[in-house]
Amino acid sequence: MFNKILIANRGEIAIRIMRACRELNVGSVAVYSEADEKSLYTNYADEKYLIGKADPKDSYLNIEKIIAVANESGAEAIHPGYGFLAENPQLAIEAQKNGISIIGPSPEIIESMGDKITAKKLMKKANVPVIEGTEKGISDVNEAKEIAAAIGYPVIIKASAGGGGIGMRAVYEENEMVRAMESTQELALKNFGDATVFIEKYLEKPRHIEFQILADKYGNTIHVADRECSIQRRHQKLIEEAPSPIMTEELRDKMGGSAVKAAEYIGYNSAGTVEFLYENDEYYFLEMNTRIQVEHPITEIITNIDLIKEQIKIASCEELYYSQSDVVVRGHAIECRINAEDPLADFIPTPGKITGYRSPGGPGVRLDSGIHTNYTIPPFYDSMISKLVANGRNRNEAINRMKRALSEYVILGVKTTIPFHKAIMKNQYFIDGHLHTHFIDEYRKGIE
Ligand code: ADP
Repeated sequence: MFNKILIANRGEIAIRIMRACRELNVGSVAVYSEADEKSLYTNYADEKYLIGKADPKDSYLNIEKIIAVANESGAEAIHPGYGFLAENPQLAIEAQKNGISIIGPSPEIIESMGDKITAKKLMKKANVPVIEGTEKGISDVNEAKEIAAAIGYPVIIKASAGGGGIGMRAVYEENEMVRAMESTQELALKNFGDATVFIEKYLEKPRHIEFQILADKYGNTIHVADRECSIQRRHQKLIEEAPSPIMTEELRDKMGGSAVKAAEYIGYNSAGTVEFLYENDEYYFLEMNTRIQVEHPITEIITNIDLIKEQIKIASCEELYYSQSDVVVRGHAIECRINAEDPLADFIPTPGKITGYRSPGGPGVRLDSGIHTNYTIPPFYDSMISKLVANGRNRNEAINRMKRALSEYVILGVKTTIPFHKAIMKNQYFIDGHLHTHFIDEYRKGIE
């Protein structure tokens, strides 16, 4: 096991990783920007180092600086968390050069799964079902129109290098194609430095169902059950639950089997997630995320497996402790992402000072957060400030606990998504488990 791990991230996930380090008796090193000097996670760590200005490119995205701190502090490994450098193969390459381990897969795997076209091609070869569409980049509008006509509208144009729900656009008719191609290519270039886009069938009311993977360096690969993440806004998840309300043992074996096959085919060897879209009893590979995900706690709760500790152990060359039959799903867990955003004003970010704070508790409640009274949420980073998770023996108990926990949760001084989550928890369609990726759009239009 490593002596010391540098956490190249901030906020709640930095604390979550440090908690795992502490339980494993491993030292933790925090890095922080000028904007995070007073953040809770910097005090939680055993050591902390200032790495630059608030702008992420001067701090949390500055590979050179982060490697320098790892060397200076004597950290033997770097955990990148999610976001920032988590799926940047360059971090892994530079770390390798310096004899530092990365808690994640190899740079080659990050690279191939980070490119949606390459990932889709590989999955097709692995016999994992993929959504009908092109497996090459398209730049010519006429070619795009031909392909769309062959697949049948609606289609979706997607940036191959995309992530975070950016660079995707549904096209319902041929006359929208020119504008859609132009705008997606432009967004792809601006956000990812790569204008390559591809086209696939647009599923109109799919569910987003994903499988957690754990794979070690000795070829042992298991899935740690499913999560449903259909409650999204602008293709970004807001509420996740585990297991999916539609999951059966049979479907879990089938979809989980595909997820394991996907991971095995590429020689995966860390914690990761295989995402699928599910519609009309069929499922299709969407993408693989080669990092720990925001929503990992709901899986930890229903399986009693600490995913971060396992991920760290795998990186330190331990053999996987669990076999597939050790993964037993018990009960139900729901996560609400608490964002500093105003749900009544189109979810605009609401950075600022938290003037009063009281966290929820009691049976079946877990809170992963990096905030407290008098904490000032900086405007430079993601607006997610905490993750509220509730669980119960069944989905109904989990929903009722989430309602209670949301009503206990007091955050004063800034607007948050708490009222929005309260409304969803009371919504009959949600309660009945009628979920799909346009749930929120329809809910907000009052139709569902
Ligand atoms: P990102 O990498 O930006 O997160 P994903 O490929 O994971 O993008 O897709 C995010 C979300 O976008 C999905 O959960 C789904 O809601 C929507 N989406 C992506 N592809 C399709 C598709 N072919 N049909 C319908 N919805 C899609």
